[in-house]
Amino acid sequence: MRYVIIGNGVAGTTAALTLRAREPEAEITMISGESDYFFSRTALMYAYMDRMTLRDLEPHERKVFAKQRIDLVRDWVVDLDATERTLRLKSGKTIAYERLLLATGSLGTRLDWPGLQSAKEGVVHFVTLDDLAQCERVTPSTSEAVVVGGGLIGVELVECLAFHGKKVTYLVRSPWYWPGALAMEESEIITEHIRRHGVDLRGTEEVDEVLLGADGRVRGVRAKSGAEFGCQMLGIAIGVSPAVDWLRTVKTPPKIERGIRVSPSFETSLPAVWAAGDCAEFAQDGEWVVEQIWYSAKRQGELAARAMLGDRVRYEPPIFYNSAKFFEIEYTSTGSIGKPPEGSRTFFCRIPGKEASVRIVEQNGAVVGVNMLGARWDHTFFERWITERRSMDYVVNHLREAQFDVEFARVEIAAVEASYKQWRSPVSS
Ligand SMILES: Cc1cc2nc3c(=O)[nH]c(=O)nc-3n(C[C@H](O)[C@H](O)[C@H](O)COP(=O)(O)OP(=O)(O)OC[C@H]3O[C@@H](n4cnc5c(N)ncnc54)[C@H](O)[C@@H]3O)c2cc1C
Repeated sequence: MRYVIIGNGVAGTTAALTLRAREPEAEITMISGESDYFFSRTALMYAYMDRMTLRDLEPHERKVFAKQRIDLVRDWVVDLDATERTLRLKSGKTIAYERLLLATGSLGTRLDWPGLQSAKEGVVHFVTLDDLAQCERVTPSTSEAVVVGGGLIGVELVECLAFHGKKVTYLVRSPWYWPGALAMEESEIITEHIRRHGVDLRGTEEVDEVLLGADGRVRGVRAKSGAEFGCQMLGIAIGVSPAVDWLRTVKTPPKIERGIRVSPSFETSLPAVWAAGDCAEFAQDGEWVVEQIWYSAKRQGELAARAMLGDRVRYEPPIFYNSAKFFEIEYTSTGSIGKPPEGSRTFFCRIPGKEASVRIVEQNGAVVGVNMLGARWDHTFFERWITERRSMDYVVNHLREAQFDVEFARVEIAAVEASYKQWRSPVSS
């Protein structure tokens, strides 16, 4: 059997290793236009801040691929012919496949702001290795930067620029930072923290026009409010979109809406072609969704490979989990937090005197989401409690089991328990 995988990210690489583990004799080829080897995209910021080399970002020893006889091809795929079962590469080469996995990931979302198309220098994104190289090239000639986009990638770029000593203005369209994931109370903690790092974070500001100097380099942005913000570097971090545009014009395009439409077993509309990871779009509770998170891409890569091997698989999106750091503030989120379900009730407690908080959401007597700031937590406990439909009382009573850094913990469980007791008491309610 000849398997070909387009994309060497976590979805593609997990798929390749899963295929090899089950099929010692198969031919497996993985193609990427971006990099020779799989790297951790989530750690891009540490390379920008010189805390890690690019090589440090690679989760596997390079020799793994040779040892596992996974052929790596560095090229862009530009055409797909599902009738002939061939791919055409930018270099002109043709590669034949018997079973194909599309694992092409995401690219930074671009908007057509006036001025943007004409910018010759100074506009950056922060998703790919090319984006990182562009950031590193523009950094030395920048004293002021504007970053647009109130999500995780935006704040990471802001932190990198602040680390490099730039004066950073951070424009967020919503009234508070990252409303998709944080409630106002947590957002306030993060906002204060980001500002304490010297970043000028502005809410309710939306870009109207990109301003350019005579040489074509960005010199600022004008917001819809009329305010102008000067900069020599404009970071656009307004989200990511599935990297599927190239597939819309190939000889035999798969069905694509926002991403490549797949069945619960990752089949696309084309025969012998599967898709997984950030580029795949699948049905969930009557809606079409694209999951753009690391652990989902990994799980999807593994399951898609099993489907390609002939196993009967059915993907159920895992309980949502994400963890990150906003400068020094740790963040762990599990379950339904961004959009608390109807009829749910929420316990929130800010730890006095600290940039730390605990949020627990319960629906019909069972905890459905947990959001923690300011300390490290083992999310597997939260996942288990959500799966076991544990009550809010249970979760609060067992919270200390989920805490990592017991010795130096910044969230005193006793303070959470006291706050919870008060919240539950009839007097306070
Ligand atoms: C800065 C940043 C921080 C992040 N932080 C987090 C986090 O904290 N937590 C979290 O869960 N997720 C995070 N993510 C998201 C996470 O990195 C992605 O969900 C995950 O990497 C997706 O993996 P993938 O294998 O689907 O795609 P990708 O890693 O995007 O890999 C796809 C590969 O396919 C290649 N490719 C595409 N088209 C072609 C073509 N035509 N020919 C050849 N090659 C092609 C691409 O160049 C790319 O190398 C972050 C992302 C970014 C950018």
